Amino acid sequence: MNCLRRCWAEIDLDNISYNIGQYRRYLKDGTELLCVVKANCYGHSEAIVVPHLEKLGIKWYAVSNLIEAEHLRSLGVKGEILILGYTPEENADDLIRFNIIQACTEFAYAEKLSRSAKAGKVRMHIAIDTGMTRIGLHSDTAANADEVEKIMALENVQVEGMFTHYAVADSDEESCNEYTKAQTDKILALDDELKRRGISLSCVHFLNSAGGVYHSNEASALARLGIILYGLYPDPATALPFEPKPVMTLKAVISQVKFIEAGTTVSYGRTFTADRRIKLATVTAGYADGFPRALSNKGEIIIKGVRCPIVGRICMDQFMCDVSALDDVQEGDVATLFGSEITADDIAKQVGTIGYEIVCGIAERVPRIIAE
Ligand SMILES: *Cc1c(COP(=O)(O)O)cnc(C)c1O
Repeated sequence: MNCLRRCWAEIDLDNISYNIGQYRRYLKDGTELLCVVKANCYGHSEAIVVPHLEKLGIKWYAVSNLIEAEHLRSLGVKGEILILGYTPEENADDLIRFNIIQACTEFAYAEKLSRSAKAGKVRMHIAIDTGMTRIGLHSDTAANADEVEKIMALENVQVEGMFTHYAVADSDEESCNEYTKAQTDKILALDDELKRRGISLSCVHFLNSAGGVYHSNEASALARLGIILYGLYPDPATALPFEPKPVMTLKAVISQVKFIEAGTTVSYGRTFTADRRIKLATVTAGYADGFPRALSNKGEIIIKGVRCPIVGRICMDQFMCDVSALDDVQEGDVATLFGSEITADDIAKQVGTIGYEIVCGIAERVPRIIAE
């Protein structure tokens, strides 16, 4: 069967190339690009996106967990793969077998992995908590350096780098800039302290999407590019020096078109009542596809270039919209739910979340296809 044309996501590979090209212009010499492909490439499909990144010559990837890392290897990725999240100690040998780098949260965790590893040494980047307060070493510089040394002394561990994660790099507020700078200073101070002790880690990194644009720094060996790769904004309230091009376009078809009379109510809960005779279309997507139910009576979709308001509650697999503005619309016509005109960021704002959550939330049952 071809891709079922009910509700599907088109993935634009040219836009990925464009976003990477633009982003790279802000990186300093000495900073290499790492593509963050966790959560099935933020919902865009590893199977589609990763082979394209391979063609572009990407050498570094980051994922959230071992299953994602193994999937990249099965797609033929030979480059470095960093797991940003947690791997249980019983999987230590899988990390070795698949040649994966594991983020290390603290000495006790490294010790467990070291004890469990039978097949060799577990490669690690040590997480340094400089202000995100999520994972990593969280003491002062001297104590953190002591802990790094203790981790490095473990038998079945190979420490190759360390990294930190910014909390507010996406904001241009003065206090946020200061916070980000303090985070940078902390990891660089630790790097200096380690060098004083004769330890030189080959891979120290701290830039995310926003960091690479607003706080570019040659001292970061990697820039971990996530959301901008997919054409969305780290924070839509903060302008970027270039406009990223959204990679995913969510589409669905119209299954029925009909006129309803004034006074007719639409969908569950009867939350919409027609105030006049309107032309109504039923669209074949719903919240089970990841199209947020919170857009009920709020959102708009695009049919034949015209914005049509969503009316009534969005159901699990279908919703209705007012197509009175369209003369020529019929069953089988295609609707664009979001993409480049109404973006995932726009929808996110309407429902009180971020674009990341919209694209990550597109359901597995929605086929991803390469845009023509
Ligand atoms: C997810 C993640 C990133 C990517 O963040 P974006 O804002 O999407 O660029 C980078 N680093 C770490 C540690 C992450 O968890």
